[in-house]
Amino acid sequence: MNKPAVFPATRADWEAAASVLKPEASHFIDGAFVASRSGETFAKVSPVDGRVVAEVAAGGAADVDRAVASARAAFEDGRWRGLEPKQRKAVLHRFADLVRAHTQELALLETLDVGKPISDSLAVDAPFAADCIQYYAEFADKLVDEIAPTGPADLALIRREPLGVVGAIVPWNYPLIITAWKLGPALVAGNSVVLKPAEQSPLSALLLARLAADAGLPDGVLNVVTGFGEAAGAPLALHGDVDMITFTGSTEVGKLMLEASARSNMKRVALECGGKSPHVVLADCGDLDAVASGIAWGIFYNQGETCHAGSRVIVDARIKDALVEKIAAHAATITLGHALDPASRMAALVEKRHADRVLDYVAIGVREGARLALGGRRADDLPGGSYVEATILDGVQPEHRVAREEIFGPVLTVLTFDDEADAVRLANDSIYGLAAAVWTRDMGKAHRLSSAIRAGTVWVNCYDRSSLATPFGGFKQSGFGRDRSPHAIDKYMDFKTVWTHFG
Ligand code: NAD
Repeated sequence: MNKPAVFPATRADWEAAASVLKPEASHFIDGAFVASRSGETFAKVSPVDGRVVAEVAAGGAADVDRAVASARAAFEDGRWRGLEPKQRKAVLHRFADLVRAHTQELALLETLDVGKPISDSLAVDAPFAADCIQYYAEFADKLVDEIAPTGPADLALIRREPLGVVGAIVPWNYPLIITAWKLGPALVAGNSVVLKPAEQSPLSALLLARLAADAGLPDGVLNVVTGFGEAAGAPLALHGDVDMITFTGSTEVGKLMLEASARSNMKRVALECGGKSPHVVLADCGDLDAVASGIAWGIFYNQGETCHAGSRVIVDARIKDALVEKIAAHAATITLGHALDPASRMAALVEKRHADRVLDYVAIGVREGARLALGGRRADDLPGGSYVEATILDGVQPEHRVAREEIFGPVLTVLTFDDEADAVRLANDSIYGLAAAVWTRDMGKAHRLSSAIRAGTVWVNCYDRSSLATPFGGFKQSGFGRDRSPHAIDKYMDFKTVWTHFG
């Protein structure tokens, strides 16, 4: 049995651990850490305190070419997809075990990269990544092919085959978890991967790559190219020898993935994009405290930098004031503090300029006529300029920009409705359709509303409950294709018919 892990207990301990950390900061290609062909690097500034934590390789087209060539060679010679299924399963299980064994280091890198509370990186991000790899490892020897019905002189096999080289382009908000959502199903299906982490969050991806190699993943099967979107992401999306791009990020860049596919080799594209997810709160929602707590955590967890953050409350006008008061009371219990303080439940946004953008949205909302019911300021007692208070904008109208655009920060907007049809119309009045919640004790209404709302996930009387067994992804401009669940594997595979005639 594993010994229980003992983690640093105080901010000072974590700061001491950070001060001696020497993260890998070069590309990982063909089983080795390598500098950019150009020799260029960029300074990775931590939002935790504004300090530079690493000089990271700034990738370009030449590095992407090298990584794709390595992935292609690994795919063609079958060093991974040609292994016995139980061998692939064992490698992926060892990978998951190593991720678990490195929880502390991964969590620290994640927090230094993106500013999320260390207690969340430790309890959620690193362990969930390990769970995901483990979940998909189990499919290695359980994916079976089919035989189609034919006459007696024929045999028609329907075989599942990996696609080849998968380019994975991921965002910075849950780097470990989202990367694991891509790697687990893509690798178990037998593909090779070139991963392009967000420029804000390269460090945990590079450690993941090393752990995968230590677990026995053959060289070239997982490559990582770090760098900026246009310099490193675009050449990957446009590459003629990449068979699929699996992308998570903004809707704007998601559309560029479709263009890149059309302009290059018609590669597959799977998109997990933005959201503006609504909470529809009916007057018969029951315990208003429980509802308010669900709404507060649904927007303020991870500082609101969650694609499915419940950022729009659409509430029956008769209970709006009471609900807003209770959400504000719950928000006050979610301690905003230094990201390396284990007591903090909210911490830094990913970059100072992102914090500026979020605060600009608050100002826009107020100019548009919303009332600031909570927060709205930068926490100037914390270092680096990236910490923003939990914020509630009340009196928001459907046409306001703050009701329509993804703010991606700790900002909740509150709108009201008069009847059920109005509530559904407002909930669906968005280009996005990632997630939603319905709060009512009337199960008939819950059933009606959950089918009328166009979203990939609808929670009833809860928010953000999920497991690896349920698919996750969007309707409308929140994207298409699903992460998690057995369904995720299908998008990394193709069906081939092999028809034999016994004439
Ligand atoms: P982003 O779109 O700016 O960047 C995502 C990735 O794309 C990064 O790796 C970036 O370097 C790369 N990129 C940027 N420009 C590119 C280009 N021209 N060509 C190729 N690659 C390029 O998104 P972000 O700011 O990192 O993340 C926040 C967004 O991600 C939000 O919109 C959020 O809703 C979305 N998101 C969605 C989900 C989901 O599952 N639906 C999950 C998490 C985040």
